[in-house]
Amino acid sequence: MAKRDYYEVLGVSKGASDDEIKKAYRKKAIQYHPDKNPGDKEAEEKFKEAAEAYEVLSNPEKRKRYDQFGHAGVGGSAAGGGFGGGMSMEDIFSQFGDIFGGFGGFGGFGGGSSSRQQVRRGSDLRVRVKLTLKEIAHGTEKKLKVKKYVKCSECGGTGAEGNNYTTCSTCGGSGRVNRVQNTIFGQMQTQSVCPNCNGDGKIISKKCSHCSGAGIVQEEEIISVNIPAGVMEGMQIPMRGKGNAARNGGVSGDLYIAIEEENHPDLIRDENDLIYNALLTIPMAVNGGTIEIPTVDSKVKVKIDPGTQPGKVLRLKGKGLPSVNSYGTGDLLVNIGVYIPENLTKEEHKIFEDLEKSANMQPSEGAKKNFFARFRSMFS
Ligand SMILES: [Zn+2]
Ligand SMILES: [Zn+2]
Repeated sequence: MAKRDYYEVLGVSKGASDDEIKKAYRKKAIQYHPDKNPGDKEAEEKFKEAAEAYEVLSNPEKRKRYDQFGHAGVGGSAAGGGFGGGMSMEDIFSQFGDIFGGFGGFGGFGGGSSSRQQVRRGSDLRVRVKLTLKEIAHGTEKKLKVKKYVKCSECGGTGAEGNNYTTCSTCGGSGRVNRVQNTIFGQMQTQSVCPNCNGDGKIISKKCSHCSGAGIVQEEEIISVNIPAGVMEGMQIPMRGKGNAARNGGVSGDLYIAIEEENHPDLIRDENDLIYNALLTIPMAVNGGTIEIPTVDSKVKVKIDPGTQPGKVLRLKGKGLPSVNSYGTGDLLVNIGVYIPENLTKEEHKIFEDLEKSANMQPSEGAKKNFFARFRSMFS
């Protein structure tokens, strides 16, 4: 199913203020809250959709990227596959608990549902990946070596030597203790972290020697990531749950793939356009001919008209980079310059001297005007 526009999801305009976005999200969150719609899958999806929209639009940097690149700019692209994937209920409650602040704080809605225990969350990781223009033009799959915390294989993440632990008697292993609180929806059970086990749900008598009781160890993992065509330097691809594992079997953090761009020897990128600076010889500029222009993948032949002026820009349609949103492809702009030779033989100097005398060598009034107009447009 195609993703809906985030502004549409929250029912706000593109120019909505932070406050309007927050209010709109709050309204949706309350309307579709699982406690008000028990067992209603559609409401749950709407609740998640609103949270995802809010996650992006409430973050100025993400919002800017979304405005510019759409869902792909914030990792929700359908094109790449394998990343994005929406938020879990745990994510939503751990990240946006504060939005419910006026209703009794985090957990203020907490009914009997076990899906929303406060879960420990591993930290996020960020790795850079450097891409060539060719990789950016076509999209690529990259295998990245990531050093991160994973569940300890010795103790299976329990942190206890030989599974030697007892369930916490205060909380019965849940890591949470219940209390009853009055909210706008009536009396509700809320939960807080068990003070006896500190939320672990267990008491370890002997710590696992491999992980020192943490239940996690640092290891290198090879992670493959699909990078969609058209990405730009500074964009980040989020991979949910691929970050550090949490202590004591919580939810893993996210991994962010930060895009970096390798300089191309001949081509300069300008958004989705590419620029090539072609330096013609004087005879080529005067007589015209054919030159070879490098593209991302190969080379193309380009016709030069007789009398081509320096500063002229030739536009090769569709020879640029694809948009990351899959809306069209940029162009390759050939910026024409003319090389003035610096070392000539006596005979060659003589040829230019003779040419100088020809009236045809003098710029026409039209040519002078054009030159001046171009000069002026550069400064306006
Ligand atoms: Zn261990
Ligand atoms: Zn406990």
